[in-house]
Parts: sequence; C-alpha cells; structure tokens
Amino acid sequence: MKRTATSTDSVHAGEPKDHAFHAIPEPIVQTSTYSFADTKEIIDLTSGTHPSPDREEYGRYGNPTCRAVEQRMAALEGTDDAVLFSSGMAAVTTTILALVKQGQHVVLFQDCYRMTREFVTGTLSNFGVACTLVPSGDIEAMTSALRPETRLVVSEAPTNPYLRCVDLAALTAACKGRRGLKTMIDATFATPVSCRPASFGVDLVVHSATKYLAGHHDVLAGVTCGPAHLVSLIRDLRGVLGNVADPHAAFLVGRGMKTLALRMRQHGATAHALANWLEAHPKVERVYYPGLPTHPDHAVAMQQMNGFGGVVSFVVKGGLEAAKRVVDGCKMARIGPSFGGPETLIEQPAIMSFYEMSSEERVAIGIDDGLIRLAVGLEEEVDLRADLEAALAL
Ligand code: PLP
Repeated sequence: MKRTATSTDSVHAGEPKDHAFHAIPEPIVQTSTYSFADTKEIIDLTSGTHPSPDREEYGRYGNPTCRAVEQRMAALEGTDDAVLFSSGMAAVTTTILALVKQGQHVVLFQDCYRMTREFVTGTLSNFGVACTLVPSGDIEAMTSALRPETRLVVSEAPTNPYLRCVDLAALTAACKGRRGLKTMIDATFATPVSCRPASFGVDLVVHSATKYLAGHHDVLAGVTCGPAHLVSLIRDLRGVLGNVADPHAAFLVGRGMKTLALRMRQHGATAHALANWLEAHPKVERVYYPGLPTHPDHAVAMQQMNGFGGVVSFVVKGGLEAAKRVVDGCKMARIGPSFGGPETLIEQPAIMSFYEMSSEERVAIGIDDGLIRLAVGLEEEVDLRADLEAALAL
C-alpha cells in the first residue's frame, strides 16, 4: 500500500514553522489588492527581478492565505504545486479548460459528479471539444477510446455515487507515451489521507475542498494539485476567469485540513461498520462501499487506498417509495446533498440530483430508483445505526 497523508502531515505538511505576527494559525490576509513602495518595485515584479517571488499584486492573482493552503495541499498530495479555487467545479472546469482546445478530445469515466459530466459532454462540446464516455474503471474501453487528438483522461476515484475505484497504475500505464495526453483524477471522495493519485503517475489531482478537506459543511472551495508547469497554466487561467477563493474561505479550508486525517479515520471506520451492517439487513438489496469484498473494485481499493472514505451507497428493496421512506424516516441523518462534514447527510440520487430524468433515463445511466447515498459524519456508529434501523423498519 502506498504511503498516504498522516495526522502529522495534516497538521504540519507544507507549512512554515513561523507565521506573520508569530500567530500559530495562518493569518487571514483579507485584502483585494496590495500596495507598492514605488514604481521600481512594480517594474521589478513584472520583469521577474523582485527579490521576493511570492510578493502579491492583486487579489485575483494571489493571496497569502490562499497560497498557504495551496502549499499545504501540494505537500499532502506529494505534487510540486497546487492552485485554490472558489469551488470544486471551478477547479474541475478551469483545469480542463486550461488543457484542451477546439478540435481536441476528452475521455471521461461515466460514473461521476453530474456537473462534471455536464461540463464535459455539454459545455465543452459547445466549444468544439469532443468527448467519449467510458464505463467506470474500464481501462480497456478507455484505451480504445483514445485518439491522436485526445488530450485528457478524466476520472473520479472513488466515483460518485457507486464508489468505483479505477486502477490508477493501470490507467497511467495505458496513457504513458501518448503525446500531449494528461490524466486528471477527482479525488474528492478519497482525500490524500486515503489515496494519493500522483504517486501512481497521475498528472493532476482535483478536489472539491467543500467536502472532506474543509470538513464542516460551511464553505465552498476547490483545489487542483500537479506539476509546476501545469499548475502555472491553470493558475494563469484562474486569473482570467476570476474564480479565486476568498481569503476567509481559504482560512476555513486550511483550518479544516488540520484535522483531516483524524476525521477521515473516524468517517471511514463508521462508514465501514455501517456498510457491513447494511449488507446483512433484509430490506437492503445491495451495498456499495469499496471496503466490502462484494464491491466490484475491492481488490483495487485494497491495493491503492488506505481507508475507504465516509460515503456508503445502498439500494433498498422496493424502489423509489421505499427509499423515500428510509430517507424521511431518519431522525439524526439530515437530508441534503454533499458530504464530508460532521453531520451525517442522507439523500436519494433519483430525487436529489437526477429528478428531472425519467426512471428509464436514470436506469440508462445506472441510477437506481432505490439508491440512497449516506454521507457518514462524525457521530457515533451506534447512534447512526439506531437511526437507520428505525427508518428501515418503517
Ligand atoms: N467533484 C465531486 C466528486 C463532487 O462530489 C462535487 C460536488 O458534490 C464536485 C466535484 C463539485 O464541488 P463543489 O460543489 O465544491 O463545486
């Protein structure tokens, strides 16, 4: 198993020992712009001869609080650099836009966050970028979909909502040696505590920092980690598009990251125990959790992950109505999208994210009407189990 980020890394990685004003946490530098001593200093900065390379000019190009989070994320993922955004979708879309242009082609593994699929299949096609969707985890299908003009292969690892785990070593091996081709993994569900895709040769690792990284359901942010030359391209495009994180949002992400490993251990242990229990429940048809031997990617997950995350998806017998009863019957788990915070969230993808589709359309893209996504929080397992048990009994 590859080395992943530890609790010590969560607290210290990528951070200088001393901060401004001797503060222990990273101070919030709440400014939109920066002043210069004189004209010479501006010229030095623009010509690249300024003695302090991190000196900022304007808030859309950089901020020390955001920069600190970027450096810590790069350290946690084991990449050269990282760039912080106003949301996970800002990170996903800006990263893809920085790497492809008209006439080129993207391959996307299809079990993924709906807006990522919409961006790749809808928005990108409006700008003349073609795409092929391939079944999640299917490296053979991905390899056959590659064309000379393919510039990017995108997957989540694990995926949403079925928690499929693509074999990252096999994926990067299949892409190796193809001119101009880059790989991008959305590792929001894993976090660097569970898996570090760059250690398998993945070029770019993207996160919705809204989820586990920030960890408290109170801020939106996103981050892309990768080699310096690619991150620099993406950062330049962020300066054009303007989808930067606010310094206060960056502070919240950075604060959440301090307890990342600790929280992931608790999320993972509780989710694993609940997945085992749900699998044996007579009203449950199927459970999807990479830590279960019955999950189709269990072997891959065992090999490349260290803990399996806090999301458990399961199908209840009886379809849409039965799933509604369970979701509505929970007293502790709150109904809502997203995951990664202390409060357990429960939702029915057929109603929450895919409501405007017909049942047949949902089945075509693999969304079962009886599917429930449980984003396990930090409550005690025994209390969550009692909540689910009562709801399943209704
Ligand atoms: N990637 C994954 C895997 C997600 O689940 C989400 C949101 O749910 C996103 C990206 C988008 O992140 P955000 O909501 O921070 O824009």
